[in-house]
Amino acid sequence: MMDTLALKILFMVGFIAAWAIRTPYQKRDKQTKRLAARLVLRERVLFVLIYVGMVILPLIYVFSPWLSPADYHSSLWAGYLGAIFFAISLWLLWRSHHDLGRNWSPTLEIREGHTFVSSGIYQKIRHPMYAAFWLWCVAQALLLPNWVAGLAGMISFGIMYVLRISNEEQMMLQHFGEEYKAYMQRTKRLIPYLF
Ligand code: SAH
Repeated sequence: MMDTLALKILFMVGFIAAWAIRTPYQKRDKQTKRLAARLVLRERVLFVLIYVGMVILPLIYVFSPWLSPADYHSSLWAGYLGAIFFAISLWLLWRSHHDLGRNWSPTLEIREGHTFVSSGIYQKIRHPMYAAFWLWCVAQALLLPNWVAGLAGMISFGIMYVLRISNEEQMMLQHFGEEYKAYMQRTKRLIPYLF
């Protein structure tokens, strides 16, 4: 069994790193004008859902005993595997933010001066940031040995991903037409050559 305190500390280190990676882009996002925003209410609801699953519940687990009835014993391999997934996720989060630059937004929209990105990590897969989120959620499940806090990320992000992904690609197709169509034909969504 791995020390849960060590796992909690590791999770918080990753959490703060992710926050540090994202904050500068979030600030920029607030300064850019939107040209087309989609499904605003649904996006908001989904945003609350992933906030609960990926932020609130993990923090409650780390800082309070409230979720302890749902604790289980973790094994050493889960901790190590979680740490590896976590590190890859953070790298991918940074890389996708870097390559998407000003075209990033938390909700689905086309911004003023939106450009279509198919270089850098976007050359390999169409949704590296969502791939980073998936890796994060798997890491969350491996690092937090609690049925509620551990699985809440995968469930909430999973719902968000399933409901969002085709809308996002539809939106990109509408705005970038043939260019995005060709890009879809030569790339996969999350795992190069596979899926
Ligand atoms: N799905 C991508 C981006 C997530 S951010 C990823 O996982 O990496 C969501 C915003 O990114 C959407 O509002 C969309 O406008 C924009 N977007 C998605 N793919 C893009 C691309 N290839 N080039 C430019 N903008 C893109």
